[in-house]
Amino acid sequence: MEQPDLGELMSAAVAVSELSKRYGRKWAVRGLDLLVEPGQIYGLLGPNGAGKSTTIRMLVGLIRPTAGEVFVWGRKIGVNGVAEDGAVGALVEGPAFYEYFSGYRNLAMLAGLSKKVSETELEWALRQVRLWGRHRDRVGSYSHGMRQRLAIAQALVPRPRLLVLDEPAQGLDPQGLAEVRELLKKLAAQGTTVLLSSHLLHEVEQICTHVGVIVKGELIASGTVAELLASDDRYEVTVADVQAATAALAQMALVREFSQDGENSFTVWLHEDEPQQLNAGLVNAGVGVKGLRKRRTALEDVYLQLAADEQPLLPGAGEGGEAP
Ligand code: ATP
Repeated sequence: MEQPDLGELMSAAVAVSELSKRYGRKWAVRGLDLLVEPGQIYGLLGPNGAGKSTTIRMLVGLIRPTAGEVFVWGRKIGVNGVAEDGAVGALVEGPAFYEYFSGYRNLAMLAGLSKKVSETELEWALRQVRLWGRHRDRVGSYSHGMRQRLAIAQALVPRPRLLVLDEPAQGLDPQGLAEVRELLKKLAAQGTTVLLSSHLLHEVEQICTHVGVIVKGELIASGTVAELLASDDRYEVTVADVQAATAALAQMALVREFSQDGENSFTVWLHEDEPQQLNAGLVNAGVGVKGLRKRRTALEDVYLQLAADEQPLLPGAGEGGEAP
């Protein structure tokens, strides 16, 4: 990613430059550049341990970067302070609720920790997350989805321009996930910028407008969800005879460019997405084609990484629905 210029830094909801965090000898985050524009729902996607929480904690000033800078709404976060009031609402570690207290009382206590809040503010936040009506019920009777919405309500109380959520869909069942998705889309439509982290591709695809893929502390891809889901017309071709394949590829009008990148394999860029023509051209030239496959997209790379780490690919199931 290109370094953001000063104008971008000042107007962006979040601008992160060369952000790094080291724990002992291990880099949790390394050289991260990130730009979240106003109005985006930006998903920081990556497998467990990728560095998402560490990044988010640095964004909200909870931990100090080893190197690099973070700007939120043009203001530098870090040694010199945090964002101004109302700029950011964050859900970083799920708050612990008192089971025997009502949702309203829990929210009043949590929100009141940092500043005095009015009943109107609490009601507004509870209405946003559709808990007004259940707000007098004990949290002990809430489903996981309702607890999560209550936690988001706490982040909403300051009516932030930027909402930062670390794994908001963690452990939600499909209904809970749909509720959170609907809520975030509504908030975005009202002008709130959202930055969330997730290890669930499915969720990010459904909620986010933009996504940054983080693996082993580094941002490996970023763009709109549509961009990252589209692969370009690039194929990996494995052949029996490299010399014959080189000659054939050089002759084919369909082939825009190619490079040999393994003992028997090539990356081939096509003018048009016609892999069957590529295959036919090679076979007609007497080249034995052992394999032909489209290059993976950045998001598919994450899928594979997740699969390798045996992380769930879909939202966790098994949580109960809403309490009656
Ligand atoms: P998860 O969803 O599992 O939390 P993540 O993408 O949010 O994953 P981080 O929690 O940011 O990842 O962790 C990134 C790496 O940094 C991991 O290897 C983790 O073990 C390490 N790490 C995080 N916090 C600390 C800490 N306080 N001390 C030492 N290592 C840490």
